[in-house]
Amino acid sequence: MYGGIANTKRLLYRDEEKLTVENRDYDLFVIGAGSGGVRAARVAAGFGARVAVAEDRYMGGTCVNVGCVPKKLYVYASEFGKSFKDSQNFGWNGDAPHFDWATLRDNKKAEISRLNTIYENLLAGVKANVIKGHARIVDAHTVAVGEQHFSAKKILIATGGWPHIPQFPGSEFAISSNEVFDLAQFPKRLAIVGGGYIAVEFAGIFNGLGAQVTQLYRGPLFLRGFDADIRTHAAKEIAKTGVDLRFGVNVQSITSGQGGLQVLLTDGAIIEVDAVLYATGRKANLEGLGLESVNVKINDDGNIEVDDKYCTSEPSIFALGDVTGGIELTPVALAEGMSFARRQFGGQHDTVDYEFMPTAVFCQPNIGTVGYTEDAARTRFGKLRVFKSVFTPMKNTISGRDQQTFMKLIVDSASDRVVGVHMICADAGEIMQGIAIALRAGATKAIFDTTIGIHPTAAEEFVTMREVWRED
Ligand SMILES: Cc1cc2nc3c(=O)[nH]c(=O)nc-3n(C[C@H](O)[C@H](O)[C@H](O)COP(=O)(O)OP(=O)(O)OC[C@H]3O[C@@H](n4cnc5c(N)ncnc54)[C@H](O)[C@@H]3O)c2cc1C
Repeated sequence: MYGGIANTKRLLYRDEEKLTVENRDYDLFVIGAGSGGVRAARVAAGFGARVAVAEDRYMGGTCVNVGCVPKKLYVYASEFGKSFKDSQNFGWNGDAPHFDWATLRDNKKAEISRLNTIYENLLAGVKANVIKGHARIVDAHTVAVGEQHFSAKKILIATGGWPHIPQFPGSEFAISSNEVFDLAQFPKRLAIVGGGYIAVEFAGIFNGLGAQVTQLYRGPLFLRGFDADIRTHAAKEIAKTGVDLRFGVNVQSITSGQGGLQVLLTDGAIIEVDAVLYATGRKANLEGLGLESVNVKINDDGNIEVDDKYCTSEPSIFALGDVTGGIELTPVALAEGMSFARRQFGGQHDTVDYEFMPTAVFCQPNIGTVGYTEDAARTRFGKLRVFKSVFTPMKNTISGRDQQTFMKLIVDSASDRVVGVHMICADAGEIMQGIAIALRAGATKAIFDTTIGIHPTAAEEFVTMREVWRED
């Protein structure tokens, strides 16, 4: 993959560093074969570094095993039921097929093990040494895996995060996103606690698969950090799909009884469910990492503190991805891994630019977003022009589904630059990737206006919005 550049850099790196690294086992020892760790290892090895990667659980990390990948597969599964219903007014008839949880779960497992092998081969392909087992830092240049000790010029911590379930009476009955994909039985009644994107996505998945889902969030409105209009519109649309959304409420206790789990809420209500999924946040995975033996600073939130070059306070130790508590998304961990390896082994000094980052929430319908929320844009740029469009998607005109698309453009009045785009719509994630490129290129509203639309699509609305909805 790194081809000719890799060969040039191989020589560069080996010549420069020869004297200092030859007496160590590795130039780079990566702890964690997740998104960030594998990317860093591959790029560093491509530059000629001698690399080892320790992994104690699963190749590919959270994203491949208990995150993005299985989740998206389950999102696909959850959308078929709706499609069967929507097809009827288009002339399709017959009984809707029956959903079988075991088929989905087992096919997902097979796909993930295929991906695990691919990750292993990717590392083998660049001659990175994969060491299976729990890695513990012994000193600033030594890592132990079991009884074996390895020395390295540089150590990279890419150990990711771990779901956090708070302690309360009955919390032992709660499960996390780690377990939910592989439940032995499909939970016909499911309580989901949390208001972040993961909680919202699981609510959509299990609702779509036919479970009765109650989503509980202690704050006044879920999806904190997203644009305020998106949050309101999402709550309205998700409620229409049948998810019982309850805001301003938390769990007091869970007890196990004859009919399932009884969940006592802070408003006094009791709900009976088959499973309680906690998606209330993740913590840096530092368990047994041996950080007490080195000078790596941990911040107040329990994450490893790093600068923009992923340096910790211990000069030979670096950290990136979820373990640093930044933007906890796979493409961010990948970009950080790439940037780290280029700087440390390839002599390249670019840093990751987090501005105008796109992201999606794979709820039904999807949320897609890039750039600033309206509130953040006002703080950052001052005066704004805001455009919005709310309409019934063409498909729903015949299917009869009561669901509306919402789109919003935020424009910096002074420069005419589009600084935020947000939407709720089928395939919003796919649409927003292209919009993100335009925003990073500095597209102005005038450029959006002179772009020819693709008809008939929902996305064409972005180039036909003319009336200002709000102006400062
Ligand atoms: C349910 C869910 C859905 C998600 N969906 C999305 C999504 O749609 N899009 C998106 O961009 N992001 C998504 N994410 C987030 C994404 O998975 C993470 O941001 C990403 O995996 C972080 O990569 P990382 O390299 O920092 O850590 P990880 O991928 O978590 O990798 C860390 C690895 O280190 C290993 N490890 C830990 N400690 C040790 C040790 N001491 N020794 C050896 N190995 C160790 C772990 O076993 C793990 O394999 C989702 C996360 C979850 C939980």
